[in-house]
Amino acid sequence: MTVNKFSKTPFTVNVWDLMHQPGELRERELDLVVPEKMGEGLVAIKAGSVLETDVRLESLHDGILTSVRVSGEAVGICGRCLKDISLPVRVEFAELFAYSQTGAFDYEVIGDHVDLEPLIRDAVVLALPFQPVCRPDCPGLDPITGERLDDLPERVPQEIVDSRWSALQGLLESTESEASTHTSNGVGTPNEDDSFGSPPEREKS
Ligand SMILES: [Zn+2]
Repeated sequence: MTVNKFSKTPFTVNVWDLMHQPGELRERELDLVVPEKMGEGLVAIKAGSVLETDVRLESLHDGILTSVRVSGEAVGICGRCLKDISLPVRVEFAELFAYSQTGAFDYEVIGDHVDLEPLIRDAVVLALPFQPVCRPDCPGLDPITGERLDDLPERVPQEIVDSRWSALQGLLESTESEASTHTSNGVGTPNEDDSFGSPPEREKS
């Protein structure tokens, strides 16, 4: 058994008491301090923040099956309004760390340890949203001024509505006046005058 490439970190878990004892089970609760930032997008898990991690270690014939549940907090900016935000991140996964050192398995028991860091890092980074938002209906930025619409809840939306409405209002007024002109001088009126006018004519004749 070689430990040449192994370096102990908070993410490495000692499994010596489980090795080659199929059926043995251990559970650990770890508060893992993130050594370097996880994620390159708008939100990331900052270096120095803590990942609350529950680890279940089960000894199998081939190796150690690890079931891991991680919860932490990602911080960054909203993809629409650029406001600072923080988001809870929760991931779960299970992976076998094999005794075999042939390279046939993605993860191997190294010495008498398993290293959870690459697994946790991959799972957490995959769980981070590409387009994080401060809230689902975030209105974003004003396309003209670049101001945050949320910061101007009364002024800006009214201005936008007013300008559109006044244009619509102008159209409505011109159509209404055209329509009323048509009906007053329009086609229907003479016939109506005739039908109203005819009974008195009959009485006269
Ligand atoms: Zn936002």
